[in-house]
Amino acid sequence: MTDPETRYKELVDILQKKGTRLTSHRVALARLLSVSEGHPNASTLYLKLQTQFPTISLATVYKTLALLKENGEVLEIVLQGDSHFDGNKPYSHPHLVCSVCHQIYDADEPLITGLLEKEIEGKYSFKIQRHQIVYYGICQDCQNKTSSDGSDRKGIDSE
Ligand SMILES: [Zn+2]
Ligand SMILES: [Zn+2]
Repeated sequence: MTDPETRYKELVDILQKKGTRLTSHRVALARLLSVSEGHPNASTLYLKLQTQFPTISLATVYKTLALLKENGEVLEIVLQGDSHFDGNKPYSHPHLVCSVCHQIYDADEPLITGLLEKEIEGKYSFKIQRHQIVYYGICQDCQNKTSSDGSDRKGIDSE
């Protein structure tokens, strides 16, 4: 996980380099992306910013996200017809999606995905640029909630 302060500087730096005017709205979005946990969608980011900047437009949020994405500074994950953004880990990494609470978790396993990509590139002569791997299941919180005895967590931590 990258330090939020470093990430923030990287995001602002890229916006500046790409000739975007550094408005308070764009800077605030960069700040929010650098500290945001999880994988918010554009409207979640927009609503959060709106409390502080009532005049911010959704278009600004979309445009800034698109610019950052083009430059590999945020990762876009498309799930259930909506785009979610990871500003902390802009590189491709697997995600775990809980089908009960719909929370998106990171599964940072670069070794496994790296090997898989090499194999696919070789087998299909395909140059991979990025990947989106999603595992659907039930997160630990939801497993604990549904089990009759919350203290019984046999098997959950195996592997
Ligand atoms: Zn869950
Ligand atoms: Zn992620």
